[in-house]
Amino acid sequence: LPVLAVIGRPNVGKSTLVNRVLGHREAVVQDVPGVTRDRVMYPAEWAGRNFTLIDTGGWELDVAGMAASVAKQAEIAVELADAVMFVVDATVGPTDTDEQVVRLLRRSGKPVVLVANKVDSSMQEADATTLWSLGLGQPWPVSALHGRGSGDVLDEAIRVLPEVSAVADRMPEGGPRRVALVGRPNVGKSSLLNKLAGNERVVVDEVAGTTRDPVDELIELDGKPWWFVDTAGIRRRVHQTSGADYYASLRTRAALEKAEVGVVLVDASVPMTEQDTRVIQQVIDTGRALVIAYNKWDILDEDRRPYLEREIEMDLVQVQWAPRVNLSARTGWHTNRLSKALDTALESWDTRIPTGRLNAFLGELTAGHPHPVRGGRQPRILFATQASNRPPRFVIFATGFIEAGYRRFIENRLRENFGFTGSPIEISVRVRE
Ligand code: GDP
Repeated sequence: LPVLAVIGRPNVGKSTLVNRVLGHREAVVQDVPGVTRDRVMYPAEWAGRNFTLIDTGGWELDVAGMAASVAKQAEIAVELADAVMFVVDATVGPTDTDEQVVRLLRRSGKPVVLVANKVDSSMQEADATTLWSLGLGQPWPVSALHGRGSGDVLDEAIRVLPEVSAVADRMPEGGPRRVALVGRPNVGKSSLLNKLAGNERVVVDEVAGTTRDPVDELIELDGKPWWFVDTAGIRRRVHQTSGADYYASLRTRAALEKAEVGVVLVDASVPMTEQDTRVIQQVIDTGRALVIAYNKWDILDEDRRPYLEREIEMDLVQVQWAPRVNLSARTGWHTNRLSKALDTALESWDTRIPTGRLNAFLGELTAGHPHPVRGGRQPRILFATQASNRPPRFVIFATGFIEAGYRRFIENRLRENFGFTGSPIEISVRVRE
């Protein structure tokens, strides 16, 4: 379906307009600063045409200053959309921020409909005419709040919206998925981020002192957009002496909480450290999908190479299930393999196994390999169900305590049978007499 994005400065009435289109079928929640709303795309219909509506109202991207934040939003929306509704507050008139957005929109070449909002009565229509100066053609006077003119402007948006989307097939359902790039200092996170993002994408105008930390960046890999969350701390080298470890770990946790998948970057040119292992464990503990990337492959010692694969396999014995990519952030070698690994991990993370299939599998497994007898008793597995996904969580009902070794056995066989490449899985046991 073609994609229509609604953009504009905060408080110009974007969400009100979006609600008009959606007819209150979806409650567009109050904007919470600093929170990337999960749901930014809605299936919509107007004048008999179906399309996807992007509401940028919830994208509080904490880029330096509001102007940059809005510009960033606009840039992303344009990237994701086939056409744009640019909402301006007619009672305020064009602002510098609006002009900045206009330049972006012009450059994109995408169709734009200029919405002059807050024209609540015919008396105010003169306000709208000042917006001709933006150079985007006719401003459409609208009162999103009262509905005045909103039908006309939506008709116009539908008219300019292409029949065939140029972007939709690149777009995961529900919007781009969220990635946290993590790893101990100096493994090359910022180098990799820069390599992946390219420089043309940076729209941040750094205003000293106004930068708040987390910034989510939209980065295209293999033609598909991904949110890289909390990238500010990666881009800006944080120099800390005391307690650096502790803060690094807090930062990692915060990024992972916002993400669906963690890419743990490891420096392949030096032996793995305990800190690397801790970061991997953090991804698992937060229940996120996991991809492991070994960086600096361009500077490996020749005499180290032959042993390295073996060494890595031993280091990662606990997380053999995670997809691994060897790459070089410096040269860009194999960085194009990341998106495939991310897709694989998230697919596993999303997996739901139907109860029937799960029990057929477990029944056969436990019949062939029953739990060992303990103290004259042998706990039996009665039934299992997948309680949730993201990550997959299983609940097993049994007649007695299931020991850790047997749980691991079940987990391993579940992995062998159903895949789960790149996803942690959780198994809990409930005892029923
Ligand atoms: P961060 O602390 O994880 O963000 O690490 P940086 O990106 O700042 O990189 C730390 C150092 O490693 C810098 O000197 C980089 O130039 C270097 N580096 C990063 N990636 C690579 C790579 O793929 N190959 C080589 N040879 N050096 C790299």
